[in-house]
Amino acid sequence: MCIEIIGCYAQTELGHGSNVQRLETTATFDPQTDEFVIHSPTLTSRKRWPGGLGKVSTHAVVYARLRTDGQDYGVHGFIVQLRSLDDHSPLPGMTVGDIGMKFGSGAYNSMDNGLLRFDHVRIPRNKMLMHLSQVTKEGKYVQSNVPRQQVYGTMVYVRQIIVSEASCALSREVCISTRYSVVRRQFGTETQVINYKTKQSKLFPLLASAYAFRFVGEWMKWLYTDVSKRLQANDSYINVKIL
Ligand SMILES: Cc1cc2nc3c(=O)[nH]c(=O)nc-3n(C[C@H](O)[C@H](O)[C@H](O)COP(=O)(O)OP(=O)(O)OC[C@H]3O[C@@H](n4cnc5c(N)ncnc54)[C@H](O)[C@@H]3O)c2cc1C
Repeated sequence: MCIEIIGCYAQTELGHGSNVQRLETTATFDPQTDEFVIHSPTLTSRKRWPGGLGKVSTHAVVYARLRTDGQDYGVHGFIVQLRSLDDHSPLPGMTVGDIGMKFGSGAYNSMDNGLLRFDHVRIPRNKMLMHLSQVTKEGKYVQSNVPRQQVYGTMVYVRQIIVSEASCALSREVCISTRYSVVRRQFGTETQVINYKTKQSKLFPLLASAYAFRFVGEWMKWLYTDVSKRLQANDSYINVKIL
């Protein structure tokens, strides 16, 4: 069936946004059943904000603390099915919903940012994203030497896109407004309205912002690509800079 599986990215928790390394959701490996048990142990560990989680998504890439062999190996990604593919109802152990209205005009209210709580949800071992590190059937943690920051770089990539897209939207609007201000004439001398200082004080900062967002977006794209490549190549210089 077309568009049967819809995904979202569930990293942020009520208590932990910028500080990803402090996330509290746990993924505890159970070697008896070859499964991970995903759990939200505290109020602050509940997922909050992921776009698409509130209503639409059937699956999520969930970021949780990996626990196996009696040790905590930090934050890793897991694919978790949230809702039934038949009737879209939440699966057992899952409390999922929309966080509701957001402040601001427009303010992303077309997006169903969601909340999510796990109550000992079991997923097969192979639902862990194991490109960078693995857990064996016996529960042994095998770590690659690729730096851990690679694991949650995706959201930085998305932030870079947001800055670039803000520039595109603002550029379109400023362009329309500037052109109109050039052709529009007012009052006795039929002055072009762009020559009025009050008009300039409104328009020019927005024009400057459009360029600034564009350059910052391009720079962030370059920086993200450069850092990702260096991390993949395990460039020790960049590791020191990032840590
Ligand atoms: C529209 C929207 C969509 C989102 N979509 C998703 C999604 O799809 N998936 C998901 O997992 N999450 C999502 N989020 C959550 C988002 O990733 C978090 O809001 C973000 O990580 C910041 O966390 P926080 O809101 O807890 O802010 P905090 O971490 O509490 O930060 C608050 C302020 O303090 C500053 N600050 C924090 N720590 C430092 C520091 N060490 N040094 C300097 N300044 C600091 C921050 O820059 C910020 O200004 C979304 C959020 C929004 C608003």
